[in-house]
Amino acid sequence: MADYPFYHSHIEISRDVLQSNARYLHRNLKSGTRSVAVIKADAYGHGAVEVARTVGDLYDMFAVANVTEAVALRKAGITHPILVFGVPVPQTVAAYPAYDLEAVVSSDEHFDQLQQGTAYHVEIDSGMGRLGIRPDDLERVRKRIASAGRITCKGVMTHFASADEGDGVYMQHQIRVLAQIRDMFGGQFPLHAANSAASLDHPDTHLDMVRHGIALYGYDPTPEPSEQLRPAMKWRSWVAQCKYIHKGDSLSYGATWQAPEGGYYAVIPAGYADGYRRNLSGKLPVRIDGRWYPQVGRVTMDYIMVWLGGDRYAAGTEVLVMGGEKNHAGIMADAIGTIPYEICCGIHTKVPRRMV
Ligand SMILES: *Cc1c(COP(=O)(O)O)cnc(C)c1O
Repeated sequence: MADYPFYHSHIEISRDVLQSNARYLHRNLKSGTRSVAVIKADAYGHGAVEVARTVGDLYDMFAVANVTEAVALRKAGITHPILVFGVPVPQTVAAYPAYDLEAVVSSDEHFDQLQQGTAYHVEIDSGMGRLGIRPDDLERVRKRIASAGRITCKGVMTHFASADEGDGVYMQHQIRVLAQIRDMFGGQFPLHAANSAASLDHPDTHLDMVRHGIALYGYDPTPEPSEQLRPAMKWRSWVAQCKYIHKGDSLSYGATWQAPEGGYYAVIPAGYADGYRRNLSGKLPVRIDGRWYPQVGRVTMDYIMVWLGGDRYAAGTEVLVMGGEKNHAGIMADAIGTIPYEICCGIHTKVPRRMV
């Protein structure tokens, strides 16, 4: 705890929304299909330990990007199976058996590096073009698995590059490679491939297990988003100052915005150092007391300015900076040409997260 346990803004994560998203995502799974909650990058900025506790009953397994994230979950008392997507390296191989973590073998040498007794999944690169053993020689992979008796294969996985683009040519290509993977490994090892988008739009890819990331947090990555998924994250700050300016007076760096008439503006302590991206300058509104007001002028390191017109608010009044129907992370992402993943992960870790 800091000397003064007050930060100028905070993130609220809704337990109800996370659970309702998770339930919605499980509705279209065949019974017996297992599920992984992907909570890498501190659960896409939502707080991995709290998210794990909140949706643990609905998921069979968690997945993280690296051993550091996995060990933090274990130390917080999380007992579910944990899959570590990232590559095992000499510095981390001992952690897998020590903390009961499942590794992902994504190249031939990992078979030799992993320590005795480690559980692992083999990742085949069916077209993602990132980690994974290229599928040219699935027979060789099968032999490696068969001869790696010191370690235990618990699954064979692959990852889609464009499941969020509907039924495109590339997705069809990967689904064809998936069919080969199925022919080779189906029935012997649990198979998993589907991320959020495939889980929602491609039931044929569910196989034995699905992996939910972004949709769990409330952003539907498919071309026709469902109304059922709702953003779990709200970013709240407050009015630091509220002042009158005259018609033509300008606000913030570059003096890019002038008041259209005399009126009030509020200074809100959330800026690009917190993760309110500078290229959002002048693009989205904030909500104060149920009303929407435009953010105007440039976003600065620690503050944004908001035009209130004739309205006035006392210092300390709460402000919804992100997370409402007009300014959630999906809308922010669209406004600046990125994806909600990046917005959520981009809110600085120093901004406190609270479950509500
Ligand atoms: C991040 C990740 C996921 C989750 O993807 P979403 O699009 O967030 O559902 C699934 N599998 C792998 C291998 C990943 O890296």
